[in-house]
Amino acid sequence: MVSILTNPSPSTWPSLCKRAEFDDSVIEARVRAILLRVKAGGDGALRSITKEIDGACPDDFLVSEAEFERAASLVPDELKKAIIQAKGNIERFHQAELPASFKVETMPGVSCQRRWLPISRVGLYIPGGSAPLFSTILMLAVPARLAGCREVILCTPCNGRSSESHQACLSRRQTESHQACLNGRGAKEEDEVNGRVVTDEGKANKAGEVNPVVLWTARLCGISTIYKLGGAQAIGAMAYGTESIRRVDKIFGPGNRYVTKAKQIVSTEGTAIDMPAGPSEIMVLADETASPSFIAADMLSQAEHGPDSQAMVVCPSMQMAADINAELERQLALLTRASVADKALANSRIVVFDTPDEAERTERFVRFANTYASEHLLIETRDPWTIADRITAAGSIFIGHHSPESAGDYASGTNHTLPTMGYATAYNGIGVDSFMHAITYQELSPEGLESLSETIIRMAEAEGLDAHANAIRVRVAYPQPLPKGKGAASGGYQSPLLQEGQGGGYLSLVRPNIASLAPYSTARDEYKGDIGIFLDANENPFDNGYNRYPDPRQKALKERIAALKGVSPDRIFIGNGSDEAIDLCFRIFCIPGVDNAVAIRPSYGMYRVAADINDVALREVQLNDDFSLPTERLLAQADEHGKLLFLCSPNNPTGNGFPIAQMEELLNRWNGMVVVDEAYIDFAEQPSLLTILDKHPNLIVLQTLSKAYGMAGLRLGLAFAAEEVMQLFANVKYPYNINLSAMEHAEQLLARDVRKEIDIIKTERVRVAKALSAVPCVLKVYPSDANFLLVKVTDADTLYNRLIEGGVIVRNRSRVTGCAGCLRITIGTPDENDRMLALLTNFR
Ligand code: PMP
Repeated sequence: MVSILTNPSPSTWPSLCKRAEFDDSVIEARVRAILLRVKAGGDGALRSITKEIDGACPDDFLVSEAEFERAASLVPDELKKAIIQAKGNIERFHQAELPASFKVETMPGVSCQRRWLPISRVGLYIPGGSAPLFSTILMLAVPARLAGCREVILCTPCNGRSSESHQACLSRRQTESHQACLNGRGAKEEDEVNGRVVTDEGKANKAGEVNPVVLWTARLCGISTIYKLGGAQAIGAMAYGTESIRRVDKIFGPGNRYVTKAKQIVSTEGTAIDMPAGPSEIMVLADETASPSFIAADMLSQAEHGPDSQAMVVCPSMQMAADINAELERQLALLTRASVADKALANSRIVVFDTPDEAERTERFVRFANTYASEHLLIETRDPWTIADRITAAGSIFIGHHSPESAGDYASGTNHTLPTMGYATAYNGIGVDSFMHAITYQELSPEGLESLSETIIRMAEAEGLDAHANAIRVRVAYPQPLPKGKGAASGGYQSPLLQEGQGGGYLSLVRPNIASLAPYSTARDEYKGDIGIFLDANENPFDNGYNRYPDPRQKALKERIAALKGVSPDRIFIGNGSDEAIDLCFRIFCIPGVDNAVAIRPSYGMYRVAADINDVALREVQLNDDFSLPTERLLAQADEHGKLLFLCSPNNPTGNGFPIAQMEELLNRWNGMVVVDEAYIDFAEQPSLLTILDKHPNLIVLQTLSKAYGMAGLRLGLAFAAEEVMQLFANVKYPYNINLSAMEHAEQLLARDVRKEIDIIKTERVRVAKALSAVPCVLKVYPSDANFLLVKVTDADTLYNRLIEGGVIVRNRSRVTGCAGCLRITIGTPDENDRMLALLTNFR
């Protein structure tokens, strides 16, 4: 079956280990033409190329929420469980891979650093035609997320199946040739067409759908931007960008020869790629303790990948080689992809080194394996580590008799994207660092530069680079200290908050420049008394009630709020609306372009706006279908750059509050700050999280005077947190963020008892909800703990316009994910509510 070579001489090894070479000039010409068209024609070119190749093109490349939802319903629970377990192991392994940044003082006054940063935008390619490799999504998306990449997009072609056929296929899995089903092609022959591997079935209708397991796995890994686009054109779209697809910085993922060629070409034009790719391969080193049936199974697990795969075995006897061949024959007959595997076996070899001297044999095994530099190397010997320790070239090594390649391919934790074609001599497989890049920094003090100046000048002059020498001379000749940055690294001011022994560990989450910020000191900070002649702030001295700057610390208003809420004034921040507090959370904790925040969806839109303004990636996690908190999915988003988690309770626009126990669980398990927005808490039955503020140094509670307290026009929002956190808010805010008029009015209005108004609003909420439930165009009224109702109606757009015509303005939320067909209706006065109800009741 597989050809056997006995004791080949070392001079023949390089040619024995050489991989097949293909003439890809035809492919290259076609791929270049496709790439040129995409570059010049953008989306239009993508459509026409896809139509030419597949006979059809999806209306919209972007996978919709409905498609994600349908996919989730099609994937069997057992498969979901398996994928989740594999993901856990992959996360645990890759977490340990996170590279460490470091700082070294190479000599006094010369400080050098290397810091790892995520690559901002990455694109993953997942083939669909031949094999929807959802396992590869785990292998790429998990490290991308751990690295902290801001944007992860995925391109994958439709494979010409409808969701029904996927379902039939997935439910057949247990009994039939499930691998064939998952691969979307039955046992049909592969046919390469211009950059895509398609199937007979696929060719008939390439406008079908993306494999549901691919969609479900991508979503599980936090990828929501998926384009139904395959082949060389998908690589072009990710490399150059089109109207609808943003260009990425680096492209990852396997593909057929067209995809591989396209990646090669774009890598010469400024887009990075993961690594050179070729057909997959395995090498098994076996001694007499190895089982021929295990070895044959390992070879076939490689061979079934594709007809150009290669399996190499090195073993100690002709007898074992013959036994392996017999096993291959027996097991091959049982495989679904037998015809593919059979072709791969034709490229495969068994090499026998039968020298009786064990040390000599081990030597040959090691040298032969290092010459081959296999993508996967299995060592099935009595004492595998004696060989493994001497291997210098391999992608991934599988030790002993119980470590098959399949374990690493799917679920043990290591990455399965590995170097092939002998590149393992110098390349490694994908890891978290593949999604990162490092920047070095240096900071020289005047003394540091002085002491290094002669060395630099000598070397620069010896190389004839006068300007280099001059850049030192101008500084050493005029050695005034340069203006210093404020960062602690430059010896600047360090906030007492961050000095040892002060504050919780959570303060380490603060952006370094904010932690060491010397806040702006106002004239009124320096002198706090109120009797005197104030010639300190360049104000107009003639009294009109507003000629003086207001108190930057808002002492009087804070004391009033402190008494009302039972929280010490040091734990209160007053902002220009709670929107200011939301923005400050980003500015204090998130390094722009590096850190990320997580929020629930649907929720208050300002979290996204503030994140975008601050250039912070916001990872939104869809609430469960019943609008409850998706605790585990939220936690799955956590990584070292995840600084903030936004919860809104009661939530806008869904109206429901979340159980305190669940929010506490998140406070305990989330490694960053948790911001709980309680804008509507006064309308809820459950207590505020202010009751547990003492227990959680990472809790920031937001409230507002805009809702129950009736002061939306004054723009006064509140944040409550540990004193150290509130001090940071005070340092970062504009000095006089709250104007005098607002403070005075608020103090007056807070003297009123708003409980009566709140009671009326709550009673009306019950009455309006009941009345709405009886209206024919209303499909559902969601339970509410807030001063509004989310209402699902038959035709949200028309109804919204009809209400406007009737003089009533509500909020149309029907385009918000998870709120399809919904209007959000604020509870007004009883009269206002009656008018609204009348309009709805009369709607036909
Ligand atoms: N949080 C939520 C949940 C909101 O719905 C709103 C306003 N609609 C705010 C905060 C903003 O409040 P403020 O008026 O205090 O800026």
